[in-house]
Amino acid sequence: MIFRQLFEPISSTYTYLLGCETTGQAVLVDTVLPTWQRDLAEINALGLKLAYTIDTHIHADHISAARKLKQETGSRIAHPALDRLPCADEALEDGRPFTFGGVTIMPLHTPGHTDNHFAYVVDRHVLTGDALLIDGCGRTDFQNGDAPTLYRSVHHKLFTLPDDTLVYPAHDYQGRHVSSIAQEKTRNPRLGGDKPLAEFVEIMANLNLAYPKFIDYAVPGNRLCGECPPGVPDTLQQYCEQIAESHQG
Ligand code: FE
Repeated sequence: MIFRQLFEPISSTYTYLLGCETTGQAVLVDTVLPTWQRDLAEINALGLKLAYTIDTHIHADHISAARKLKQETGSRIAHPALDRLPCADEALEDGRPFTFGGVTIMPLHTPGHTDNHFAYVVDRHVLTGDALLIDGCGRTDFQNGDAPTLYRSVHHKLFTLPDDTLVYPAHDYQGRHVSSIAQEKTRNPRLGGDKPLAEFVEIMANLNLAYPKFIDYAVPGNRLCGECPPGVPDTLQQYCEQIAESHQG
């Protein structure tokens, strides 16, 4: 399998490119609208063809490029069935393998950050979305998030993967790229080292995070598979505009 980690700096999102060497088909996981051209250029440079875009969840901090990439390339939109998006072409379900070319992705329902959040296991990699970040996890105070539910998703699903599974999160705000299940199980300050549920709930209840500044636009936009909704203020226009260059993750 061909694997690339790409970084979008406005929302600090990692987009993952998965490619099948035998058929030349590619998938992009968690695309970001401003970097759709960069991602496509990467696929073209590798001699691949985009077959699907997939998201881990309805993002609140950026607009997906799924719809735009479908318009430009004819790629299909695969999304967790639980979200019931009318714009999705393929519905992903917990434990039902999803195959493109010769590559099989195992979708895992990992609620808690959002109720319908999924992680994807592929070839000893796990794309953890916002359920499990390196030394952290996604917030649990919006989009039907719930701390005990996230704790169970991480402990019962992600931490039961083989220790050497590589952890690739949807975001990192400090330039870290990859971790492993063993490392997060041992060292994650919120969820690792046999941290009890009550302590995790306490940590999450006391994060005092600001209201997500783009959520009121991102969520409706992503329910349309990535459309910038009307009325986005000038200060947030950068989330809708296209950028040609960005740092490679
Ligand atoms: Fe998120």
